[in-house]
Amino acid sequence: MASIPVETEFSHWRISNAHSPDHDFPVLAEVDVVVVGAGPAGVAAATVAAESGLSVLIVEGYGFAGGSAVAGLSATICGLYLASETEREPEQVVHGFTERFRAALAARGGVTPPQRYGLTYTVAHDPLVWREVADALLFNAGVRVMFHTQLTGVIMDADKYTGIIVHSKAGMSAIHARRVIDASGDAAAVARGGGKYFFGDEGRIQNPTMFFRLGGIDTDAFWAQWGADTISPPAITEAIVSRREKGADLPREKIWVFRSTRPGELLVNATRLSDSDGRMLNVIDPEDFTIAEMLGRKQVRAYAEFFASGVDGCRNAYVVDTGVEAGIRQTRSIVGVETLSNDHVLECRKSEHGIVRSPWPIELHSGNRPKLHWLLDDYYEIPYNTLVPAVGENIIVAGRCLSAEHEALASARVTAQCFELGHAAAVATILSLESDRGYRDIAGSQVRAIMAANGSSL
Ligand SMILES: Cc1cc2nc3c(=O)[nH]c(=O)nc-3n(C[C@H](O)[C@H](O)[C@H](O)COP(=O)(O)OP(=O)(O)OC[C@H]3O[C@@H](n4cnc5c(N)ncnc54)[C@H](O)[C@@H]3O)c2cc1C
Repeated sequence: MASIPVETEFSHWRISNAHSPDHDFPVLAEVDVVVVGAGPAGVAAATVAAESGLSVLIVEGYGFAGGSAVAGLSATICGLYLASETEREPEQVVHGFTERFRAALAARGGVTPPQRYGLTYTVAHDPLVWREVADALLFNAGVRVMFHTQLTGVIMDADKYTGIIVHSKAGMSAIHARRVIDASGDAAAVARGGGKYFFGDEGRIQNPTMFFRLGGIDTDAFWAQWGADTISPPAITEAIVSRREKGADLPREKIWVFRSTRPGELLVNATRLSDSDGRMLNVIDPEDFTIAEMLGRKQVRAYAEFFASGVDGCRNAYVVDTGVEAGIRQTRSIVGVETLSNDHVLECRKSEHGIVRSPWPIELHSGNRPKLHWLLDDYYEIPYNTLVPAVGENIIVAGRCLSAEHEALASARVTAQCFELGHAAAVATILSLESDRGYRDIAGSQVRAIMAANGSSL
């Protein structure tokens, strides 16, 4: 594991940078809080902050909320249940905003019951219902929402973030804010403000994956062959290897298939996207991102063909859709006041400053096959200070760009945890504004206590 921090940027891409407070862009809004990115973390952060009475604006590059869970079609809410080697019913250990969102999906028929995933369980969500639930939460909380709006820079007064610069069809504009919550997954605001960050293990990050939905399935026949576990059984894995040896483009043999909320449909996590020489693709580089998209679509066809030509129940299978984008597991991680270490995860450490539990295994997508390291009958807690950048004032991150070592992030990045990380960032922001304190002066234990009162299991 690389020592932290390792700051890396692509030499041929220069990041657009900070502007001074007397910039000359038209000012779109002056708010208490601007949230960048409407993935699970951003939706949670914006909703909770606005419900406390703060004026909140969220900007999102896509025309819908959901981030990797929807645009990347990541399909399930992982990280809810304990893992165990003994046969046991699903035991949910993460609640709070996560459970609120899951229950809202369930009320609209947009989430499945728990499905077996190795030694634990997960639930699959419908990507359209996900967007609708997020729309309703943001609207009802009074959040001002700007879809199709991209952060391009930040406004800085010395080391204080005082707003952001955005680009939309209207052109460039400024949003002034007393606090910035960076829920972009990519630490987009932190990076543009000159904050410190790193990429995975000395620049080596996890593979992107192009997720897809497969329709036309006789699901009874399919599950009778596949079995109860969503992870591929040995016979399927062997069949993939054998096809690959005959020239099929099936680089990954351990693949995952989830039940969907829709009849006759499967959600398939199968592809592995790396460059032709095996090099890891880092989607912060637009050329790598493009390779991931094109390769992803090709590989989806190869896996769909594999299903149609030999897997029970799949004779009439067709690709319903791929993700809007190749799914991104990892890009920049901030250098935080504290970093979630691999040992913290492996030893299931807890602390009075922990703001979300995680029972999810280290699920590492790098190299030839995904690796799973299970946390058995236990969970760890992510410390608050992993969300607080080591440098810069009035900014906090939420979601997968938290400060975490490579393997630790491979556990902490999943959706149940990202919702709660957004919840935590909102609570810290409320405290910070109420008491006029910087994020570094807020005790994680205080955030934890408020989250517990909000229904988080802490
Ligand atoms: C292939 C794949 C499979 C996965 N499978 C699962 C799974 O089965 N279960 C599970 O729980 N998790 C899974 N995950 C992980 C999970 O989906 C993500 O880690 C989680 O969605 C991250 O949430 P987030 O809110 O931190 O960031 P994201 O979901 O990445 O959201 C960030 C948002 O910010 C927006 N944004 C970024 N930059 C800007 C900008 N400059 N301006 C405006 N908007 C911006 C993006 O468009 C995006 O909507 C998977 C991920 C991938 C990639």
